Amino acid sequence: MITMSGVGKWFGAFQALHNIDMTVGKGEKIVLCGPSGSGKSTLIRCINHLESYQQGEIHVGGILLGHASKTIDAVRREVGMVFQQFNLFPHLSVLQNCMLAPMRSLGLSKAEAEECARLLLDRVKISEQAEKYPAQLSGGQQQRVAIARALCMRPKVMLFDEPTSALDPEMVKEVLDTMIALAEEGMTMICVTHEMGFARQVADRVVFMASGAIVEEAPPAEFFSNPRHERTRKFLGEIL
Ligand code: ATP
Ligand code: MG
Repeated sequence: MITMSGVGKWFGAFQALHNIDMTVGKGEKIVLCGPSGSGKSTLIRCINHLESYQQGEIHVGGILLGHASKTIDAVRREVGMVFQQFNLFPHLSVLQNCMLAPMRSLGLSKAEAEECARLLLDRVKISEQAEKYPAQLSGGQQQRVAIARALCMRPKVMLFDEPTSALDPEMVKEVLDTMIALAEEGMTMICVTHEMGFARQVADRVVFMASGAIVEEAPPAEFFSNPRHERTRKFLGEIL
């Protein structure tokens, strides 16, 4: 579903990603972790070209993610993204937030977009809030709307960038439960998170990054019980 081979990314003279090789199969769930500044956000932002890359190749669903806007649009249609700060449109209702992109980008009629939006809002258990505005919702509710909004575009892959780290502790679980349900439905997912309980439960592989490179990757049981690299051990020592 996703292949990154030899990907290098620079911000000016600073190299943020070094020779990234990563393959994510259909239905696979990857948890990406690592210290602050290690390049996790940069890596997943490259997958839908929110950041450009300068070296190597990224393929998403068989499409080479080049720099032409045509391939970028094609890839973005396949890839949903959820951010730490929910990034909902504040002036639109929950329902409108979910209807906008499908009408504009997929060409759905208003009725079709509304039907789809209500279905997905129901799936993230928030259908009764459909007419409210983002500011009237809790953080956990807003993040579930952001997930529903991404799903309305019928993505083949979902990217999550620390979706629970801006939430009050009591709201983390409702968002993780939504992500777990999505994983159980077979969605291909890459999740940047330090929620190691989630990683143990859901991830097929945990990928650990440091200083812009992938240091090691392993299934969670192996990753947590037998980390091979000193950097990984140190990181796990700090967060567990
Ligand atoms: P965090 O856990 O804090 O979110 P991260 O692993 O997601 O960290 P990135 O945000 O990917 O890290 O940043 C990787 C490196 O690239 C950092 O050194 C950061 O300062 C740098 N960087 C990120 N975005 C930019 C930018 N727009 N311009 C210049 N440097 C950037
Ligand atoms: Mg980040």
